[in-house]
Amino acid sequence: MEPPDIERLDERTVQRIAAGEVVERPASVVKELIENSLDAGASRVAVSVEAGGTEGIRVRDDGVGIPADQLEAAVAEHATSKISAIEDLDRGVVTLGFRGEALYTVGAVSRLTVRSRPPGADAGAEITVEGGDVGDVRPAGCPEGTTVEVDDLFFNTPARKKFLKRTTTEFDHVNTVVTGYALANPDVAVSLEHDGRETFATEGNGDLRSAVLAVYGREVAESMVDVAWTPDAPDASGTPDGDTHADPPVRSVTGLVSHPETTRSTREYLATYVNDRYVTASALREATLDAYGGQLAPDRYPFAVLFVEVPAGDVDVNVHPRKLEVRFDEEPAVRAAVEDAVESALLDHGLIRSTAPRG
Ligand code: ADP
Ligand code: MG
Repeated sequence: MEPPDIERLDERTVQRIAAGEVVERPASVVKELIENSLDAGASRVAVSVEAGGTEGIRVRDDGVGIPADQLEAAVAEHATSKISAIEDLDRGVVTLGFRGEALYTVGAVSRLTVRSRPPGADAGAEITVEGGDVGDVRPAGCPEGTTVEVDDLFFNTPARKKFLKRTTTEFDHVNTVVTGYALANPDVAVSLEHDGRETFATEGNGDLRSAVLAVYGREVAESMVDVAWTPDAPDASGTPDGDTHADPPVRSVTGLVSHPETTRSTREYLATYVNDRYVTASALREATLDAYGGQLAPDRYPFAVLFVEVPAGDVDVNVHPRKLEVRFDEEPAVRAAVEDAVESALLDHGLIRSTAPRG
């Protein structure tokens, strides 16, 4: 048999394959769009989806906007206003997005419209991308800020469209994502609407408990106790020789955790954040659950909203295109800090009894 020729794939094919890795489902689009809004300094982010996001997704914000002459760049490949070189990544990225590929890849597999008016600009403008075909920039009437609309996701990649689950399942994923950002940003008014009906809306008043009330309801909000841990706190497991570490592996663990009897049957209400970035780090979830000791009923999981601050250089957020899993340089220390933080909070409020000598 003759060896087959090796040929370079055409650009469109490469684009769609790459898009498939970043954009798995409507919730991944929602995630990227919310991150862009937050990076743009928005104080309001309104998300609305139709049919679980499979038919339409719209994210509107009141952030810095995109000037008309930048719209083409915004939807272009590897174009970003957020980093300019690889060194920026080593310094620790502060913005949520940085790959400059979200709008480009979403535009490859949907009908995407980006409409924007920077505050103070006389007029707005919009650009549309259909399955990778970039249209002209047109003037458009719009409020200050940016609105991104994504219709007919995967219309040109039927195989991927077939993998989408029922509307309710896709909406659950969207809800989890929007909830995650709403809780991480209590100072931003975040709202979610599904098929014209409001799911929740936070006030954006800066209070985490008020955000929890908006998304999870009164029963959960009232059952939650404050977590506030720093390495210097009396409860912290200090270094044996008491030396003052300039940069301890964990700077703080803060947030809210629920009463051991306020639980659900899945782990999805254990929301964890590292340096304000929403992550699904199993180490953090396990440490949280360990802190409850044996006081949770079998297969029941508490609510938690936990923010872990570590030195930027100690955490790798660049491990996956969807940027959810993180890798810690000092995982055992992070685990121990989270467990100690949650356990102290529960003990302080008399929600668990001390089972083993601590320290
Ligand atoms: P990244 O976020 O990685 O930079 P994106 O493809 O998500 O890449 O966005 C490309 C660029 O478009 C951003 O760097 C930013 O300059 C601009 N942009 C996207 N969304 C918004 C928004 N909601 N408000 C203001 N600027 C935006
Ligand atoms: Mg982005």
